[in-house]
Parts: sequence; C-alpha cells; structure tokens
Amino acid sequence: MTRHYPCCGLYLDLNRNMGDRMLTFVSYTGNKTADGHKIATFRCGCGTVQDFVASRVKNGYANFCKQCSTNIVAEKVKTHGMKYSAEYTTWSGIKNRCKNTTSKDYHRYGGSGILMCDEWANSFASFFAYLGKKPSSKHSVDRIDNNKGYEPGNVRWATPTEQAQNKKNTTYVTDGENVYRINEVAKLLNITRGAAHLRLKRGKLDGFTTHTRMES
Ligand SMILES: [Zn+2]
Repeated sequence: MTRHYPCCGLYLDLNRNMGDRMLTFVSYTGNKTADGHKIATFRCGCGTVQDFVASRVKNGYANFCKQCSTNIVAEKVKTHGMKYSAEYTTWSGIKNRCKNTTSKDYHRYGGSGILMCDEWANSFASFFAYLGKKPSSKHSVDRIDNNKGYEPGNVRWATPTEQAQNKKNTTYVTDGENVYRINEVAKLLNITRGAAHLRLKRGKLDGFTTHTRMES
C-alpha cells in the first residue's frame, strides 16, 4: 500500500517495512496544549510510547514516534536533497535569528530569549519531521505563544491572516496552569469574545486571569 506521507509530501511504501497504522491510541492524558488541543498517549509501531496532540495524529500530521519520524525524514532529506527547499530555507533562517549573534534580527529573537530548541537547531530532519511540508508559499512558521521559542507544541505553519490573529493584540489568559487565547476560552464558555473580555476585566471569567506576556 502506498500512502501519502504528510511530512515531506512524498510517497512512502509503508508495507515495505511498517504497518499501515503506526500510532495506536492508548489513552488521553487529561492535558491540553497552550491553544487548547487534547494531548493523548500513543504507541508507535516500534514500541515507543509517546504523548501527541491528538488532532495531529487524527489529521495525519503525526504518524510515528519522534525518533521514527526523524529517521524516516533524515533518509528522505538525504535522498531528495531538501537543502534547496522552502522548508530548509525557513529552518536556516530561524536558526540564524536565534543563534547567530551577528544576524541583524538576533536582538529580536535569540537576544530576547526566543530560542530554537537544541533538537531542531541540530537537525533539519527533526524540525521537518515535526512541522511537515509548507502548505503554500503564503505560509510561514508562526509561534503560537510569542513568549516561547521554536519548540515542539509552539509552532505551526500559518498564513499572514492566521498569524495576524496571533499577534500582540491577542489576549492570553491562564487558569494558573495552561495558557489559552481568550477567544478559545470564549468558545468553551459559549460566550462572545467581547463578553469574555468584559468578564476578564471584572475578574469573573470562570477563574481565568490575564496571562502577562513579555515584549517580543
Ligand atoms: Zn517509533
């Protein structure tokens, strides 16, 4: 069986060395990501048990454990010369802003504590295994929480419109444990965004308080 492999947009013959379904659902962890997605535990075909954002597995963005993904992508990168791809350019640009002190943008990134996790800085394959193929030329990498750097759980491909929604005008709230966008909380409580803002101002947003964000 040949199956579309969303990581690199190439076709991977899964019967060659793997089963059709590599990640088997084990259980929900009860935790959510900063933007409110459920996290669940899955078992990879190699035996590794790992936590994933459940929707990423459901939508086919995560098919294997981290190590298997990285191995597969590393092989593809080698075979298909990803070095001149848009994704590689993105990766090296981020790495440059975060790590290279002589980069003109360093002061806004690495110099302001916006870092790239070591695993990705050291491996394009690992970065690509997580983010997958750039959906269109309009997409770029968006940090979900602008206080946090380039790390698993905090990045996605997004269009300028999607990113605009996630810029400084976004209000983040916290329940003391996780951080959410106010519009997500509004949706959860089944109220409008405006009502959520009003309740937040009065300290009556179901226990949620404003999450103070650093200048980014
Ligand atoms: Zn695995």
